[in-house]
Amino acid sequence: MSFQVEGKVAVVTGGSSGIGLAAVEILVAEGAKVAWCGRDEARLAASKLYILEKYPHANIYTSICNVLDKEDVKRFAQDVKQNLGNVDMLINNAGQGRVSNFENTQDEDWMKEIELKYFSVLHPVRAFLNDLKDSACGSITNVNSLLALQPEPHMIATSSARAALLNLTHSLAHEFTQYDIRVNSILLGMVESEQWKRRFETRSDPNLSWEQWTGNIAKNRGIPMHRLGKPEEPARALVFLASPLASYTTGSTLDVSGGFNKHL
Ligand code: NDP
Repeated sequence: MSFQVEGKVAVVTGGSSGIGLAAVEILVAEGAKVAWCGRDEARLAASKLYILEKYPHANIYTSICNVLDKEDVKRFAQDVKQNLGNVDMLINNAGQGRVSNFENTQDEDWMKEIELKYFSVLHPVRAFLNDLKDSACGSITNVNSLLALQPEPHMIATSSARAALLNLTHSLAHEFTQYDIRVNSILLGMVESEQWKRRFETRSDPNLSWEQWTGNIAKNRGIPMHRLGKPEEPARALVFLASPLASYTTGSTLDVSGGFNKHL
C-alpha cells in the first residue's frame, strides 16, 4: 500500500539533513511535490542535489528560511505556493536539542529553548494555515521527543519545552478539527544524527565500528532494541501521520524510540 501522497504538496522544515531529509526522500519517492528549508546554504544545496540525482523528475522547491523568523517563514510559504501549489501537509521538523542541567542553564538559554520549540511550530502553522484549510487532506505533523513525557535531567530545558509542544499539539488538533486539518506528532528516542557522527569521530576507542559504538550507547542508555534509530525510521512515521492513510487520526502521538518509553 502506498502513502497516497502522489501529487500532494508537502513542506518539511529542516529538510536539509537527517530525519527531515529522509522524510523529503520518502515523499518524493511517493510522487509528492515537496518543499523544504534550512538555514545553511551549502547543506540545503547538497540536499537538493542528493534528491535530484536520485529522482531527476522530482517536483521540488527549496529555500533558505529560518523558522524562527516570522517574515522569512511568511515569504517561504508564499514562494512554496507559487512554485508547487496549495500545501496539503506541513511537517514541522526543524530544530535541535540542548544538553544542560538546571545549574548550567542560564535564563537566556531557557528563553532560546522555549522560543525554538514554540515558534518553530507556531510560525509555520500561521504561514501555511490558509493553504491547509483549503486542502482536502490538510495535516500538520510535529517532530517531538519522548522527553516530553520522560524528562532527562541533563536536558532539562529541552524536556520541559518538549512537554509544552506536546500540549500545544493537542490544542491545535482540537481547534483545527473544524477545518478538517489533522495535527499529530511523533515522539523520538535517540536517532542517528550529525551530532552523533561528530562524536563518533572523536571516540576514545578507534577500533569500535559505528554499529558497535552506537550499540554500546544504546545499551548503556537502556534502549531495549539495543541500537539508535535510523533517520528513515521516524521519517516513515512522519509521512504516515501526514498522509491520508492516517485520515482518522488526530491529536495523536506515535512513539519511535526503540522501546525506550517507560510509561504505559
Ligand atoms: P539534524 O541536525 O540532522 O537536522 C536538523 C534540520 O533542521 C537541519 O536541516 C537544520 O538545517 C534544520 N534547522 C535547525 N534549526 C533551524 C531553523 N531555525 N530554521 C530552519 N531550519 C532549521 O537533526 P535530526 O534530523 O536528528 O533532528 C530533526 C528533529 O528531530 C529536530 O527538531 C531535533 O530536535 C529532533 N530530535 C532529534 C533526536 C535525535 O536523536 N536525532 C531526538 C529528539 C528530537 P540548518 O542547521 O542548516 O538550519
